[in-house]
Amino acid sequence: MKVQSTTTQQDNHFLISDYDYKSTNIEKNGDKYIAKPQITNFKFKTDTRIPKLGVMLVGWGGNNGTTLTGGILANKFNVTWNSRRGTHQPNFYGSLTQSSVIKIGTCNTEEVFVPFKDVLPMVNPCDIVFGGWDINSMNLADAMNRAQVVEYDLQQKLRPYLEKLVPLPSIYYPDFIAANQGDRADNVIPGNNKLEHLNIIRKNIADFKQQNNLDKVILLWTANTERFCVEDPNVHGTAEKLLKSIESSHPEISASTIFACAACLEGCSFINGSPQNTIVPGVIELAEKAGVFVAGDDFKTGQTKFKTCLVEYLVGAGIKPKAIISYNHLGNNDGKNLSQESCFKSKERSKKTCVDDILESNKVLYPTEEELNIDHTIVIKYCPETGDSKKAMDEYIAEIFLGGRQTFAVYNVCEDSLLAAPLIMDLLLLCELFERIKFSKDSCEYQRFDTVLSWLSYLMKAPKSESGITTINALSRQRAMLENLVKVCAGLTVDDNLRLEVRYG
Ligand code: NAD
Repeated sequence: MKVQSTTTQQDNHFLISDYDYKSTNIEKNGDKYIAKPQITNFKFKTDTRIPKLGVMLVGWGGNNGTTLTGGILANKFNVTWNSRRGTHQPNFYGSLTQSSVIKIGTCNTEEVFVPFKDVLPMVNPCDIVFGGWDINSMNLADAMNRAQVVEYDLQQKLRPYLEKLVPLPSIYYPDFIAANQGDRADNVIPGNNKLEHLNIIRKNIADFKQQNNLDKVILLWTANTERFCVEDPNVHGTAEKLLKSIESSHPEISASTIFACAACLEGCSFINGSPQNTIVPGVIELAEKAGVFVAGDDFKTGQTKFKTCLVEYLVGAGIKPKAIISYNHLGNNDGKNLSQESCFKSKERSKKTCVDDILESNKVLYPTEEELNIDHTIVIKYCPETGDSKKAMDEYIAEIFLGGRQTFAVYNVCEDSLLAAPLIMDLLLLCELFERIKFSKDSCEYQRFDTVLSWLSYLMKAPKSESGITTINALSRQRAMLENLVKVCAGLTVDDNLRLEVRYG
């Protein structure tokens, strides 16, 4: 695809697009709103040179880590496999960047769509070099077998590639994850000195980058859900205080926060795929200083994705959700870890906040604070027999016309990591792409996006935003935001769905 327009320029290294952003400024005058449409000029400059990308996963030997690595290798080497349903070809279903499409315009009256990945130059997932850490020493072939996620025949075919991959020893702070994980911890960096731990992780990153001749590295936490650390401004509040607290091995510094700091100090962006409060203010300051991004929290895969879609639909239709009751049972190691109350509490929080902004936006349905407090209950049970085939049962009770009730009962079954792996890939590819985009407002100097990369909120259960920016959870708004950003950077027109060119030529 090539854009021919007076507002787009391209040379060998950069694509620059000029975009007049239309927004509406609202002023309050007593009980009236005065709406003032305005136009602000932005320029987006994308470096079109694709780097050699390395990714280091924390929790590499887990279900997500092995499924992601194996799935990408299956695609890279076009590994086929058999099941009782026949012969299977590898694909990237479930990946926004690889398997979804974007409308770029109309040809006569036909709408034209292209793959998301083709709008701007992006890293090919098959070219990513993977590495990482795990507190368990199993090689990735055995770990994939333990995970029981992918078909047996595919496991066998991937074995020669995966058995060579062994996670680096990791930091293990037993107090932060469930006690039932203790028997996995046979690959642990010794000692209790958190500064030494930080330095070892930093060296691992630097060595990985150098040994694989990489242009850049991104770190992603897909290890167990930790309990929340007890956040204290004196411990976590600034970069300086955080580094001092690491130096004194403060007990409320979690393993995930050490990884986040190591990433920033090595000039790498960091993504938190679990719900805990890893990205404390000191981490954000370190990232800001290093010019890298942080993004989180918790992958938005099945149940929550559906929730933020269904609740958006109900509230958008003028129907009032009054209760959401969500049951999950799962039998994988994530479920085992979540069976400890402190870790469950982290997950409960990220699952619960995901509809808040959708309800808050509609003052017709929810005129008071009290009404916003709907009955939203989260239950998670560990049932080993279920394996990675997680069951999610949700009941949505809504109030309709004249006091009537509408109830949806939704049953969702699926291999959790087969949803998470393509999503993790998207997080990495988009984070890398956004590192290559700069913008300029009203002809001021070019700058990078904010340190907390809330553009990725479509992929996160509890999206973290820059302070002062409201979080958007509604799924279609999140997707439109990503799609439009990519289109604007490419010099394409943002779609308002009026389709006037089709209706009236
Ligand atoms: P998993 O238990 O299979 O894998 C986690 C891995 O992390 C294990 O191999 C464990 O040994 C390792 N680990 C634990 N502490 C570590 C540390 N300090 N350093 C390095 N490794 C460590 O879990 P999973 O199913 O792969 O999920 C991973 C994370 O992703 C969980 O926190 C889960 O809540 C989150 N998540 C998963 C999904 C999904 O759909 N699969 C969705 C949202 C969030």
